[in-house]
Amino acid sequence: MTARVLDGQALATRLQEEIKPQVAEFVKTHGRPPGLGIVLVGSDPASQVYVRNKVKAGAEVGFRVDLERMSESATLGDVLALVERLNQSPVHDGILVQSPLPKAMGAGAQQRVFDTIAADKDVDGFSAESVGLLVQNRPKLVACTPAGVIELLEREGIAIAGRHAVVIGRSDIVGKPMALLFLHRDATVTICHSRTPDLPSMCRQADILVAAVGKAGLVTRDFVKPGATVVDVGMNRVTDPAVASRLFPAGHAKLASFQSKGSVLVGDVHPDVAEVAGALTPVPGGVGPLTITMLMMNTLRAARARVGSSVAG
Ligand code: NAP
Repeated sequence: MTARVLDGQALATRLQEEIKPQVAEFVKTHGRPPGLGIVLVGSDPASQVYVRNKVKAGAEVGFRVDLERMSESATLGDVLALVERLNQSPVHDGILVQSPLPKAMGAGAQQRVFDTIAADKDVDGFSAESVGLLVQNRPKLVACTPAGVIELLEREGIAIAGRHAVVIGRSDIVGKPMALLFLHRDATVTICHSRTPDLPSMCRQADILVAAVGKAGLVTRDFVKPGATVVDVGMNRVTDPAVASRLFPAGHAKLASFQSKGSVLVGDVHPDVAEVAGALTPVPGGVGPLTITMLMMNTLRAARARVGSSVAG
């Protein structure tokens, strides 16, 4: 068997085309575009790339996107003050503070910042209020990566209700909200993590298996029930030749690319899983593009809710 490819890139492109006329309609009705304020603190290279992609995607669908850069030496107080200013801004409907924040800000800084973002502008869905509403199945703005996974499964006609979904990973930004979204769609849900004994046999029970771990090729074919749907959230840059050759056989295009560039982007799922799974998301081109698209959808949703509430109020 060769797994059906769940093409997240194609869906992301389609969704962005669906968003554009809705943005144009918003501009016509309200005389301004939906606005997204992005805060980038410091110069982490991966964050620079993520933020650049978010700014570009926002501009492409017709949003106003303002990128606020702060230096590595900014204090937590500086960041909170900027977030408060964006909270008050009439032209910003969504606020996103790119993670990670500089380590010097301390352990609790990240959540403190997320919790300071006004709930109606929390387009990342990371604040305590957004998460609480999700737990209670009254979601407003849901974390973008797990929301993107659900969008992909539903649009691809993959049934969730009554199935067993196994999520590997229990982070606040992916694993936990992913599990809740499955639960609220009537799946039976198992959450696995680094202390789960006999991970392969737990995973083999899954009709839908989501890997959100951050370990290249962790999920091998013995983790997968034949025909299961496998969603690979992991994004791992491999630079070790031994790891690259464990993942790709001699002559594979990705191994050749690794040999010429010195690195390759891979997921948490070993490529051999394609021979067992019924459907599989690729890396790159699976979950990643949908994460940004969900950010656009959340921003449009937040903008509509805000103008709706300002009219009502
Ligand atoms: P994270 O906060 O580091 O969480 C990783 C989770 O994996 C933890 O719950 C950890 O368990 C678990 N884990 C680690 N090693 C394990 C093992 N050997 N067996 C079972 N579970 C294990 O990571 P994250 O932020 O959720 O991200 C996960 C991956 O998704 C990363 O590769 C990240 O780059 C990627 N990601 C992709 C997107 C996208 O748009 N495609 C978005 C976000 C994240 P413990 O809790 O026990 O430590």
